[in-house]
Amino acid sequence: MEYIIPEMEKGELHVHLNGLVSSGLVKTLLENNIIDMPQGFDLEKDLNVIKPANNLSSYLKPWDLLRFIPKSRADLTLIVFDAFENLKKCNIGFVELRNSVLYIALLNKVNVDVAMAWLLEDIARASEYYSIKAGLILTVTRGDYSLEQLRSLLDAYVKLGKPDLIIGLDLAGNEDIKVPDTLAYEFVRAKIEFGLKVTIHAGETGSFENIIIAVNGFKADRIGHGTAAIKSKKTMDLLREKNICVEVCLISNRLTNAVSASESHPVIEFINNEVPFVICSDNPSIHRSSLTQDYIEFYRETKSSIHIKKMLGMQKKFSFIEGLTCR
Ligand SMILES: [Zn+2]
Repeated sequence: MEYIIPEMEKGELHVHLNGLVSSGLVKTLLENNIIDMPQGFDLEKDLNVIKPANNLSSYLKPWDLLRFIPKSRADLTLIVFDAFENLKKCNIGFVELRNSVLYIALLNKVNVDVAMAWLLEDIARASEYYSIKAGLILTVTRGDYSLEQLRSLLDAYVKLGKPDLIIGLDLAGNEDIKVPDTLAYEFVRAKIEFGLKVTIHAGETGSFENIIIAVNGFKADRIGHGTAAIKSKKTMDLLREKNICVEVCLISNRLTNAVSASESHPVIEFINNEVPFVICSDNPSIHRSSLTQDYIEFYRETKSSIHIKKMLGMQKKFSFIEGLTCR
């Protein structure tokens, strides 16, 4: 099985643009732009996480530097094309890329709609060049300013004429950080008003209750990670009954320590409880890895070739990109 995995056609439903761009390119772009390097940061080793981190904040260390790029329109194009090049190497036929856009606007001193238009243009060009169908999911970060972030992203989306390439909304970040009470309502409103789909990072480093809030409050169509679901029968039942797909990122879960080395991966319980799931890579270049490696990790963990063979169908079925299956 492991030999045929690299050649298999795949879909990618959970990958962050910044986590997909090659570390070599990140290094070059950082070196070309004079930046105030955070103290003690080692470019040779701190751009990657290859051993389990002690906690989420130490896992997120590479982002201390990733937030300094792209510093120009041309650098963004290099990043997007490099990301697609990495997708192609894994035989990925369609991708849902995640990005928060706001830092691109801030870094380049342009309005959010301008930064969003740049990113969409690059994704469209790379998608055509590599023959990989693509969509963009707008990521909002958990915190006091989540509502403002969501509003400025949606304002830009409307200003650009609601581009079809934007397919959904995502909430990410440290689950211990509280979000404003009205955030869920605003996600649902965007879902109804614009037809955007919703995926929420939930139950990764936090409790299974965040998964229940994501499903019932945010009306999530999919859940990112969801590893904590196995601690609650009610949550597992909810995911199965509502047919909510979990985006399973095995390598990422080990490296963030969401799943410790001594535990078996929760995906085994998803299989046993008939909870739908897809295999995703989250931040493959940060992990010096790839979606192919996540498939291999899944196979080693479960010994299930059936699920690997069915994976492309599951990815098409639960993708937010229109027209992948004959529905
Ligand atoms: Zn993620």
